[in-house]
Amino acid sequence: MPTCRLPRPTRSAVISLPPGAAGCRLGPFDLLIDALGARSPLSSDPRRELPFGALWVTRPWPMDVYFPADALEQRYRRADRMAGVMPSGAEEEGGAPTATYFWSLPLRDHDRWQRSALADWKQEAIALWPETESLLAPLETHEDLSLARYRHRTHEQPAKGRLVHVGDSWHAASPQLGQGANMALLDAWALSRALRDQPRDAASVAGRYLKMRRGHVRLYQAMSRMFTPVYQSHSRLLPLLRDWIAAPLMQWPPAPRLLAGMVSGAYGRPLHTLALLDDN
Ligand SMILES: Cc1cc2nc3c(=O)[nH]c(=O)nc-3n(C[C@H](O)[C@H](O)[C@H](O)COP(=O)(O)OP(=O)(O)OC[C@H]3O[C@@H](n4cnc5c(N)ncnc54)[C@H](O)[C@@H]3O)c2cc1C
Repeated sequence: MPTCRLPRPTRSAVISLPPGAAGCRLGPFDLLIDALGARSPLSSDPRRELPFGALWVTRPWPMDVYFPADALEQRYRRADRMAGVMPSGAEEEGGAPTATYFWSLPLRDHDRWQRSALADWKQEAIALWPETESLLAPLETHEDLSLARYRHRTHEQPAKGRLVHVGDSWHAASPQLGQGANMALLDAWALSRALRDQPRDAASVAGRYLKMRRGHVRLYQAMSRMFTPVYQSHSRLLPLLRDWIAAPLMQWPPAPRLLAGMVSGAYGRPLHTLALLDDN
């Protein structure tokens, strides 16, 4: 196998492969970091997609109705219909604020949705949440919305030899707990700490990295697997338990604090493990 001639690494040490590089040998490298996300070809199967995905669209922030500028809001019918609106910043610094709307959809219904009239879907979506009318009214074609597919996968060997996985390439999940970006950042921080603390060889860096992150990743992957069907599934029982038992209980201390801890990624004390927070 021929050896590739590599361009000089840029300041960020990201190496872009020259055209025709496929099929030739690269390296050796001290460490290879897979940060290619949920569809990384370097990460393992199973690549099973979750049965529900979502249609997404980002629009100028609506001025005619009130949506909280600092929170994500959702409306449900059981767990098989769900719409959400969240603030999504501005396209450029100082630019106009935007809102992102999403509509939960079973993947198996996507073809049918594309073949049906957009106006019919808009009517259904607005009936579920009338305040979203001004966000949806300007949509003209199905192509105005993008379909996001979710997958749940924990790569069994997040570090092997000189290869380490960070973020979704290690642990992909549905976005219900909203922790994917946080987890990826914590992985990156942990790896940078491991590189600083144990630069002897790849094995000791990987060992230190996994020690800092494995417990937290396992905990959140398990919680994500457990809670996703409460928000996206055809279950009749789970949404009943959610609305009639969990929701009233969540009003009482210490439940709000526990819930906030869960959806801010604090369970498992990851910031303490990474020495990002003092114990007191
Ligand atoms: C619809 C949706 C909503 C979400 N909502 C939330 C949320 O509210 N909160 C939250 O925390 N998380 C959310 N997530 C999850 C979050 O986006 C991910 O967990 C997070 O982006 C993972 O970061 P990452 O760096 O591991 O991967 P990614 O952000 O996927 O980055 C991987 C990068 O690698 C690049 N790449 C892939 N293959 C190649 C290649 N062959 N060559 C070069 N580049 C390549 C990709 O283009 C991409 O830029 C959501 C995800 C989706 C799909």
